[in-house]
Amino acid sequence: MKNISVIGAGTMGNGIAHVFALKNYSVTLIDVSPEALSKAFINIEKNSERMVAKGTITEEDKQQLLKNITTSTEITIGVANADLIVEAATENIDLKLKIFQQMDAAAPADCILASNTSSISITKIASVTKRADKVIGMHFMNPVPVMKLVEVIRGYATSDIVCTQIMELSNLLGKTPTEVNDYPGFIANRILMPMINEAIISLYEGVAGVEEIDTVMKLGMAHPMGPLQLADFIGLDVCLSILNVLYSGFGNQKYAPCPLLVNMVTAGYKGVKSGEGFYKYESGAKELKVSSMFNKK
Ligand code: NAD
Repeated sequence: MKNISVIGAGTMGNGIAHVFALKNYSVTLIDVSPEALSKAFINIEKNSERMVAKGTITEEDKQQLLKNITTSTEITIGVANADLIVEAATENIDLKLKIFQQMDAAAPADCILASNTSSISITKIASVTKRADKVIGMHFMNPVPVMKLVEVIRGYATSDIVCTQIMELSNLLGKTPTEVNDYPGFIANRILMPMINEAIISLYEGVAGVEEIDTVMKLGMAHPMGPLQLADFIGLDVCLSILNVLYSGFGNQKYAPCPLLVNMVTAGYKGVKSGEGFYKYESGAKELKVSSMFNKK
C-alpha cells in the first residue's frame, strides 16, 4: 500500500493523516469543509513540531511528513488512486452510508475501504458497497499520534486476507491492533460509553459535581483523565451518537443517553471542539475551568 485517502479532517482525521504521513505513505486528506482542512493542517504542523521538540523526529522528518499530505474537498478526486481509504467523517449512519457509496464508485477495484467509526455497524456500511469483503473497521483512538490501540473490526463479510492486511498495516504504523467482531460499540465503546453516561447521570442527579466525579475516577481508579473530561475530549456529540447506536442496537434501557447529555449537545456544548462542555477550554485542552453551569458547588 502506498496511497492512503482519509475522509474527514476533524479530531480524528488529522491524527490519522499524521500517522500515515509519518511512515511515508502518500496521504490525501479530504473534507467537505475547506476550513476543517486548513485547521487540520495547522494541527498536524503543531503536533509534528512538538515531536521535533521532544526529539522523537528530526526537522527533516517533519518536513517530509508535511510534504506527504495533500488535501481535497472532492471525494471522487481524492480517492481515485487510493490503495486504502480510512473514513473518519461525522458519526452519522446516513452520512457514512452515502460516503461509502461514493467511495465504492470512485476508488480502484482492489482498494480497501475502512471506517474509523466508533460504533456504527461495519456490516451495515459494507452492505451498501459492491465489495463487502474489502470493508473493515479501523478504529484509532484519540489522540491518534499518541494512542497505541487500533481496534480492527471484522464485518460479517470481511475477508481473512483484508483483516490480515489491516492488522499488519497497523503494526507498521507502530500501533497494536486488536481484532473484534462487529456488534454495537465493538469493545472499546461498549465498555467506555456506559461509564461516561453513568458519570453524567451522577452529575444530573446531583450525587457530586464535575470535579468531584472526575477526581474519584482519576485518583480512585487510576484513570489518567476523569470520565467527564474524557467525554469533552471525545466530543459530547460523538458520545451521544455512540450511546444512541448502543441503545438502538441492543434495545436495552441501560444504554439510554442521559437527558443532560442530550440537552448539552442540542445547545451546542460539544466539549473541547466547541470551547465548552463539562469544562471550559480557553486554549485547546490545556486550560481547564469548571463550568459554573454544571458544577454543583
Ligand atoms: P469531527 O466532528 O471532529 O470531524 C468530522 C469531520 O467530518 C468534519 O471536519 C466534517 O466537516 C467532516 N465531514 C462531514 N461530512 C463529510 C463528508 N460528506 N465528506 C467529507 N468530510 C465530511 O469528528 P471526529 O471526532 O473526528 O470523528 C470522526 C469519526 O471518528 C467518527 O466516526 C467518530 O465516531 C470516530 N472516532 C472519534 C473519536 C473521538 O475521540 N472523537 C475516537 C475514535 C473514533
